[in-house]
Amino acid sequence: MPRPYLRSPSDAPVPSLERWVYFFGNGRADGSAAMRDILGGKGAGLAEMANLGLPVPPGFTISAKLCLTYLEQGTFPHQLHEEVDRHLKQLEQATKKRFGDPANPLLVSVRSGAAVSMPGMMETILNLGLNDATVQGLITGSKNSRFAYDSYRRFVQMYGDVVFDLGKQAFEEVLAEFKQRRKAAREIDLPADDLQALVQEFKSIIQAKRGAPFPEDPTAQLWGAIEAVFKSWNTRRAADYRKVHGIPDDLGTAVNVVAMVYGNMGDDSGTGVAFTRDCRTGETGARTPEPIAKLKRGALAKVYGELEHVAAKLERHFKDVQDIEFTFERGKLYLLQTRRAQRTGLAAVRIAVELVEERLITPDEAVQRVPPQDLDQLFHPMVDPHAAVTVVAKGLPASPGAAIGDVVFEADEAEALAKQGRKVILVRPETSPEDFHGIVAAQAVLTARGGMTSHAAVVARGMGKTCVVGAKDIEVDPHAGRFRANGRVVKKGQLITVDGTTGRVILGAAKLVEPKIDAHYAKLMTWADERRRLRVRANADTPHDAIRARELGAEGVGLCRTEHMFFEGDRIMAMREMIVAPDEMGRRRALAKLLPMQRADFEGIFEAMAGYPVTIRLLDPPLHEFLPHTREEVAALAKVMGLAAAKLQRLVDSLVEANPMLGHRGCRLGITYPEITEMQARAIFEAGCRVGARGNKVVAEVMIPLVADVEELKRQAEIVRRVAQEVFLAEERGVPYLVGTMIELPRAALTADEIAKQADFFSFGTNDLTQTTFGLSRDDAGRFLPFYVEHGILNEDPFQVLDQEGVGKLVEIAVRLGRGTRPDLKIGICGEHGGEPRSVKFCHRAGMNYVSCSPFRIPIARLAAAQAALEEQGVINRTKATV
Ligand code: PEP
Ligand code: MG
Repeated sequence: MPRPYLRSPSDAPVPSLERWVYFFGNGRADGSAAMRDILGGKGAGLAEMANLGLPVPPGFTISAKLCLTYLEQGTFPHQLHEEVDRHLKQLEQATKKRFGDPANPLLVSVRSGAAVSMPGMMETILNLGLNDATVQGLITGSKNSRFAYDSYRRFVQMYGDVVFDLGKQAFEEVLAEFKQRRKAAREIDLPADDLQALVQEFKSIIQAKRGAPFPEDPTAQLWGAIEAVFKSWNTRRAADYRKVHGIPDDLGTAVNVVAMVYGNMGDDSGTGVAFTRDCRTGETGARTPEPIAKLKRGALAKVYGELEHVAAKLERHFKDVQDIEFTFERGKLYLLQTRRAQRTGLAAVRIAVELVEERLITPDEAVQRVPPQDLDQLFHPMVDPHAAVTVVAKGLPASPGAAIGDVVFEADEAEALAKQGRKVILVRPETSPEDFHGIVAAQAVLTARGGMTSHAAVVARGMGKTCVVGAKDIEVDPHAGRFRANGRVVKKGQLITVDGTTGRVILGAAKLVEPKIDAHYAKLMTWADERRRLRVRANADTPHDAIRARELGAEGVGLCRTEHMFFEGDRIMAMREMIVAPDEMGRRRALAKLLPMQRADFEGIFEAMAGYPVTIRLLDPPLHEFLPHTREEVAALAKVMGLAAAKLQRLVDSLVEANPMLGHRGCRLGITYPEITEMQARAIFEAGCRVGARGNKVVAEVMIPLVADVEELKRQAEIVRRVAQEVFLAEERGVPYLVGTMIELPRAALTADEIAKQADFFSFGTNDLTQTTFGLSRDDAGRFLPFYVEHGILNEDPFQVLDQEGVGKLVEIAVRLGRGTRPDLKIGICGEHGGEPRSVKFCHRAGMNYVSCSPFRIPIARLAAAQAALEEQGVINRTKATV
């Protein structure tokens, strides 16, 4: 993410010739959809809809380009006042109403809208322009004094909260008193007199808290609201949202001033949100929320028909699924917003493929449209349909997948517990944007209220987080730390499962299963595979992982960490025995136990990979990960080795290192104890011969880890090649194989020309290369790295996203030097970055042959690789066009 935008005080003032305000409405607009940077998404959408002749209420947009300057300098360019005045006049003409006119008042909404959609994160003010005089005009116009006073009290309340930053509580308390006195369930059930009295009460709260009266002058109201909307760019929730979604901090928000239309003027008025396709699954027009379906049947069939027509037109025009906000006032339809609909990964894939089938976009565009990371959601676990579960409540399935965690009721608590490594489910009556950090921290979100388009639903879906909303049967009491559901009580800390695919809330931890891959996904991935140049392999340590990796499209194993084969069961014992063996004889004894285990695993992996290359890395165990730690572990190992526990403890103590990550690991182990390399090479080649003898193709790539100097590689490669000959002679058959090295130390990268003389291939171990380039311990970075990222010292965690400026430079140097020695050198990456989309794109540009990543990230890497290839072509095409 780019660093926060900082403007030095010496920067020139904003040039006065620039234009700051843009009108839209009545079939025309000054702007268009192409001007998102200036008008924000909402303003650009309104302008485009006006240009298309669609019914939008008229209004004007103040440029987002002013936002940051205003936030830094606290003032607007002088010319803005004149421009706003002029556009207000235009708006008055368009609506045939006047700002502050007691007989026929113009009322407006003032809304935020950045270039990138940030649903619910910034501020909106409605009914602006109301005061004690103009409310009379609203009463006359609407013939409904209750409605008019309710609008007025909402406006004063909103203004106090948003513009004067007085919070909601004081207003809510007074409102609650009034409701209680009248035994009214909703505010609108209060009589007009009460609503009128509330307006005055709210004004008194403002007077008391600010020491100044509520502004009656609509123009003063407007400027206060404009400033508040600009300021809402920097609220905590907006900043958090940007961080999570990688939205730059320097975009700023635009401000839209739009003539009010009312969806609450009676039975022939309404308001809602419509998606042109189901954004959970991508289904075409299949799900219309209840109220819209009702429209279709009722007296408002005309509005429904119009909405359907408009939705289809907008989707065709924008060539993408739209999320449309609409209001109909006394049977007349208005569109308040259209934007690209947020969608789940599942829906993104289906929509992209179907838009191609409908000839709205090309396969190239479809491949570029789906964010690679979103594919992750397709592989979310689901609740096993056959499992017996106790369902305590049901809500709307807002975002698919299933998640298990402890119930928490507050966003701060969710965040605190998640930091301690706990898995939590955030349960709220409904969420508001203030809960955003809690949603980020939680495994899933459950709300009692809200619909498919509620805040929780939209936000969770955007993040691919499991979410159930509107679970009406649950009654959430955050203060008491519990929720009730159908006669049961679920307390804070209790384990539940949230099933975002069906909407069920399940008591305890349900059994989860992996989902099946559908035809749309298969088609998109075929297009992606046809376009990518990078090969995609898996980091797989066991035959089980290798099979899973093949199912997900792996074209080989790029890293088999042979030490990981010994994490399971009592295998660790043989490994420990080998590590602590006091002499060569003891080591050989332990190695003899390890050989058959390794050989069997290698056979399984070779078989699963069916002729695709398998890179097996020789042992690289940082010793501290493998030494026995507890007294019991030492005792158990002593028994196996026939040693006294005290003697073994001394041996273990002698092996403790101050810096194990920089210690006796990697090829240093094989250099000092060649018998280890011999055993491993034997296991690899014997396994290869056995699988070959069964008629299967085998391609083995033996990889030497943590090489700093070519001499290390040379000596290890000699052993591997010697053992290969011995085995092939004994087995009377051969296996095609390569010997290569990891490039994971800066010195290896800088001397890659020398190293390439001994290597058939390079594989970048960017985990260690990041560790050693930054001098940043992989094991300890968690303590301070989040601070670095939070405070913008580093833009990203370099262990997650490849640091292209530093580590990447070493990679580029090594590729250049290596290929200088050996032009056909095979080069890949097997650090964690091999499955991270931006890093994959970097690997493509660096000219690698393949990336290797954990199995579940293979689809992500395949799609990112295809996008990298298309981006490269795009650059070439553009270059051609301009030459
Ligand atoms: C690496 O260092 O990037 C790597 C793949 O090896 P390991 O993570 O096992 O050290
Ligand atoms: Mg490494």
